Amino acid sequence: MGSVLYSGAAMADGRSPRLRLGVSILVEDGRISWIRPAEDEGERPAGCEYVDAGGTTIVPGMVDGHSHLTLPGGSHWIDRGSDPTEVLLAVAEANGELQHRSGVRWARDVGSPRRIDEGRERALSIGIRERWRGRRDRPYVRAAGTWITTEGLLPPGLSVEARDGDAVLAAALGQLDDGADLVKLYLDGPDPETAPWTAGEVGRVVQAVHARGAKVTAHSSRLSGSRVCAAAGVDSIEHGFELDADVARTMARAGVALVTTMTVMKSWLTFGTTTAIPRFAGAGNRSKIIDRLERARESARLAHAAGVAIVGGTDFGGGSARANQLPWEVESLVEAGLEPWEALASVTWRGGELLGEPGAGVIAEDGPADFSLVHGDPLSDPTALWRVWRVA
Ligand SMILES: [Zn+2]
Repeated sequence: MGSVLYSGAAMADGRSPRLRLGVSILVEDGRISWIRPAEDEGERPAGCEYVDAGGTTIVPGMVDGHSHLTLPGGSHWIDRGSDPTEVLLAVAEANGELQHRSGVRWARDVGSPRRIDEGRERALSIGIRERWRGRRDRPYVRAAGTWITTEGLLPPGLSVEARDGDAVLAAALGQLDDGADLVKLYLDGPDPETAPWTAGEVGRVVQAVHARGAKVTAHSSRLSGSRVCAAAGVDSIEHGFELDADVARTMARAGVALVTTMTVMKSWLTFGTTTAIPRFAGAGNRSKIIDRLERARESARLAHAAGVAIVGGTDFGGGSARANQLPWEVESLVEAGLEPWEALASVTWRGGELLGEPGAGVIAEDGPADFSLVHGDPLSDPTALWRVWRVA
């Protein structure tokens, strides 16, 4: 792979609000040999490629905390989840490519359809994780397997259905047997006011999954499900669009992270003008989406104020966004009241901590060369993360 010297960049690592100037990084065979002030580079190794990085900012390879690699996204995202297996596998390759080029190094896949791939029926994301292992042009994948839902909630084939507490426990352990890294419970039910399972039932799943060394996350867009999950001590809540201060405090006490996906509603707002779909473009629906987005911002604010770890995700594929749009979520977090450096942390090392991967979203000597170079200062302007010039 050879060696590359990235010379004289700024650097933002999501650990402090200060931009470091005049930073040089030597990469050899895909690993960071050293990080030094530009004036102390010393002699270059023979044959080293020199990159004048002046004017750019080095940022850690990002962690998309809420990805659906196998799904296409867009305004018909639910229908697309029923596309043929070979289409979904090709979509995953395209999504991996988009993530790579946009500076995302880790994909936390939180749900993919259960299909037959390489002769085995299981979540498609698990086979993709295996095939991408060791590739520099694809993200590292940690996969939750297939969504576990109550009956009749998602279109047929998109979820593993569980009628009661025993069934949800069996389904969770079944996902781990299939090779999933974590388990994804779907805590929205047919009635927005009532979660499909109790805190006791979810707590049993958490205990059993933790005993196997894995984590439990819960899709919850409503307050009812978030309350159950916080009480049950899941590892994280996905979306959490309707948290209140009480649930936020419980989450902080129990160490439950929040994975925000406000990008979804921002994409819905664009569909209000780019489609004629009544849900987005119909009279009054735009203001409903604006209200939900404002409520989601309030949730993130409450969680942040309570001391909950915040991780950012796009929900690409499973929601309506696309795989190269993680900066949209960083912007959303800043709008919700996080400092830009905290929002950068949410898509870098905070995501790594949630994955239990301490090297993810981190730039360190002797670590992998997982970083990219963007134009602008993401510590004062999160839109800089859209302007990726080069991926190391
Ligand atoms: Zn999702």
